[in-house]
Amino acid sequence: MTGALVLIAIFVLAVFLIALGLGLSRRSARREAEASAAAAPVAPPRADPTAAPEVPTAETPPPAAPAPAPTGPPRLSDRLARARSALAGGLGSLVRRGRIDEEAWDDLEETLLLADVGITTSVGVMEALRARASAAGVTDAAALVPLLRTELTDRLRGADRALHRADADPTVWLIVGVNGVGKTTTIAKLAGAERRDGCRVVVAAADTFRAAAAGQLAMWAERVDAELVRGNEGADPGAVAFDAVAAARSRGASLVLVDTAGRMHTKVNLMRELEKIKRVVERAPGALQEVLLVLDATTGQNGLVQAREFTDSVGVTGVVLTKLDGTAKGGIVLAIEADLGVPVKLVGVGEGQDDLVPFDPEEYVAALVGDADTL
Ligand code: GDP
Repeated sequence: MTGALVLIAIFVLAVFLIALGLGLSRRSARREAEASAAAAPVAPPRADPTAAPEVPTAETPPPAAPAPAPTGPPRLSDRLARARSALAGGLGSLVRRGRIDEEAWDDLEETLLLADVGITTSVGVMEALRARASAAGVTDAAALVPLLRTELTDRLRGADRALHRADADPTVWLIVGVNGVGKTTTIAKLAGAERRDGCRVVVAAADTFRAAAAGQLAMWAERVDAELVRGNEGADPGAVAFDAVAAARSRGASLVLVDTAGRMHTKVNLMRELEKIKRVVERAPGALQEVLLVLDATTGQNGLVQAREFTDSVGVTGVVLTKLDGTAKGGIVLAIEADLGVPVKLVGVGEGQDDLVPFDPEEYVAALVGDADTL
């Protein structure tokens, strides 16, 4: 009996000790969890966009710098993808025809017209291509593609595409063209490139006719760190250009880019005004080296009519063809050079700072026409 009582007492004691042990271990686990929670970093509060930027301290290392954006000139073939499609579509179906027959020649001519090459130039290209094909004994339509590339490149070869500089600083380039074609953007791109070369640039806001023009140019000048010379609204544009050249000379700037009006009450007024600006700038002997006509490639053949007014009045030395990255059809380059007799010197292929590239006929035609096996 006593033995049974002793066994029961031992059993009760064992149960009590086990329960006590469990209680203790749970409490210490909770305490451990609380302690580690206190040690863990607090989740960062949501960023307050109005708060001052956090200054890095020894404990909070500065955030990693963002990966540098890819720089350098854009690849023409990438940017001309849409412009290429007008020509490539037609050439693709020509290649699939196999043999060259009269219909194939008609298709090719239509393709050139649809790509904005223009009637006169298209007829000339066709004649030359027929002669090349017969001389080479070509009967396969695919073989016409490299012949076309050669013909188009040869037509664009040999022009003076250099952007000329004065013997002594500053050089002056006059930028002309109707509103909306990309004059301000082109000036900003040119000024940015000059600044990256470590030279000082003066930008002249000689479009005093449009109230917003000088403001827009001022914004760009600040962004690319160029110096701006402007007049009041309605001021004499020639005087603004003159002041800009004087300012460039006294500050040791290498380049003056003169923005001009793209529209006035009448076209005659506009052309007279541009001629006047030109005469004023020419008072500094040898300074005016380029009169660059900015043309929007997406306006196609229509753009050529207005372009002729500028070339007839102000002695354009080169064309800057903008928006070739858009819906433009690239053949317009050939029409411009043939009809206006002015070389395309630069092409705009986007709205960014690097999106202005020298016009290289070989690269351009290669990007536009492509190869027979990729059409
Ligand atoms: P402006 O009136 O002749 O001075 O023309 P702006 O320089 O103000 O340009 C008119 C518009 O064309 C702006 O929205 C520019 O960003 C745009 N633009 C200019 N050049 C190019 C280009 O090469 N490609 C594209 N896609 N847009 C351009």
